[in-house]
Amino acid sequence: STVVETKEFQTEIRQLLDIVIHSLYTEREIFLRELISNAADAMEKLRYTQLTGPEVKDKDLALEILIDTDDNAHTLTITDTGIGMSKEELVENLGTIAHSGSKEFIKHLTAKGDQKDLNLIGQFGVGFYSAFMVADQVTIYTRSYQQEGQSFVWESDGVGSYTITEGEDHNRGTKMVLHLKEDAYDFAKEETIQRVIKQYSSFVPYPITVNGQKVNTVDALWTKNKNEITDDEYNEFYKFIANAHDEPLFRLHFSSDAPLNINTLLFVPKENLELFGFGRTEPGVNLYCKKVLIQEKSSVILPEWLRFLRGVMDSEELPLNISRETMQDSALISKLNKVVTGRFLKFLEGQATSEPEKYKEFWEKFNLFIKEGAANDFTHQKELVKLLQFESSITQSGELISLADYVGRMKEDQSTIYYVNGPSREAIESGPYLEIFRDKGLEVIYTYAAIDDYIFGAIGEYEGKKLVSADQADLDLSNSVPKDRSEQALSEEEVQVLTGWLKEILGSKVTEVRESKRLVDSPALVLSPYGTNSMQRMMQLMNKDL
Ligand code: ADP
Ligand code: MG
Repeated sequence: STVVETKEFQTEIRQLLDIVIHSLYTEREIFLRELISNAADAMEKLRYTQLTGPEVKDKDLALEILIDTDDNAHTLTITDTGIGMSKEELVENLGTIAHSGSKEFIKHLTAKGDQKDLNLIGQFGVGFYSAFMVADQVTIYTRSYQQEGQSFVWESDGVGSYTITEGEDHNRGTKMVLHLKEDAYDFAKEETIQRVIKQYSSFVPYPITVNGQKVNTVDALWTKNKNEITDDEYNEFYKFIANAHDEPLFRLHFSSDAPLNINTLLFVPKENLELFGFGRTEPGVNLYCKKVLIQEKSSVILPEWLRFLRGVMDSEELPLNISRETMQDSALISKLNKVVTGRFLKFLEGQATSEPEKYKEFWEKFNLFIKEGAANDFTHQKELVKLLQFESSITQSGELISLADYVGRMKEDQSTIYYVNGPSREAIESGPYLEIFRDKGLEVIYTYAAIDDYIFGAIGEYEGKKLVSADQADLDLSNSVPKDRSEQALSEEEVQVLTGWLKEILGSKVTEVRESKRLVDSPALVLSPYGTNSMQRMMQLMNKDL
């Protein structure tokens, strides 16, 4: 006799399922992409286990995804020969423990009104539940790779609870049977399924067959020769690995043999999701050794400030059995990290000159990541600083220059790069700080973010030229003040009387009143004795007294 156990879905999963079942969707077919990607993940895990761990069950079973449609029974069946699930794993992965993303995803969906876009479901780590967009009952037969394991059957209508039953023994892997809703009968048709697979799952690195016919070409794109790959193929691959539906902004495909064997394909997405309030972006580059997945979405293979990149990195030199712990302090990993990061920064620098419009788009969306790196990552700071872009006193609003542009048109005897921080162009230009610079025809960089000044403060100079804030108290341009003005100046005694009187009036509101050597038209100017104004603003933000 079999024991049927009924279990409740965890609250957040119940909420998610409720939305999934009861809303209208624009792109329902993405459920197939999610289930195929889970099948592929399960086989990737199996392959990895097989290479590094104990002997697995059914070790000679081919790694493939079999899809069967039954137009009479209105079912769609997806079978893989992957790692399978034990009973505990079934409970944990499909129902009890909500992934951290589920809450955020619910928020994203409920914010969107009637027509819901479920496309991002995979990125939130809850892709499986998209099956309930098209099915009113899902039955899963699974057998773990572990020799001593057993087969189990998981079943649910997506409402409130699910059951787990001991199953008849079968091969390693997982079979999912979707009993389609009436309005989703189309997904029991072979042509529909073939079309959807072509659209979303062309790059799954395992053979997929539909009713016995093979439908995809198994291809590790990054190992192919660059000039044998079309733009379309690159874009399709990007959509597949990034779970994206648009095209990437930039791509970099490069291979090298020295100093390390590396094959890498990196993409910059079109959008920066952090700007949309999605929370912190998770890293998105997968690490491979000879096409075997070593670590998905690796957080050690690239610096944190490159977390917006999507793609793959493959190196023959990586040991397959490298563990997450040893990865952290592997010399090889940090070397890979350094080489690829350096190469990517060089690529960006090149794009800034060869594709300025595109680079501007990149800069508008992703500048915070580059600044985060420039402020914290001393290994790459020099290269990162080259990528910074600013407006200045001689650019139009919206027109950007780099520090190199600034230095390239410095006056012959100018040894300093000047910058001034303010909330906007207008605010900066209506202030008194620029007068002397305007008068002398000196360009001043405008920095609108406090982090810019922080970076300038940290690097101190660029190409041997000192970086000086135009509002800094000790700035002295006196020897460049035109003669005719000094003739109209007050005498030393007159200055003392005036400053003494002002000091008396202002009292403890100021630390010092002195003659300015930089003003041209304005009568007076407030300067900070503690460094730049923006530093003061940053301290105020942090609630510190000055
Ligand atoms: P994600 O794939 O992002 O982890 P999903 O909701 O798609 O999120 O899947 C949840 C979990 O269920 C997976 O992480 C995996 O552990 C398990 N799972 C889903 N499908 C399969 C499968 N075909 N074989 C083995 N495990 C699976
Ligand atoms: Mg998934």
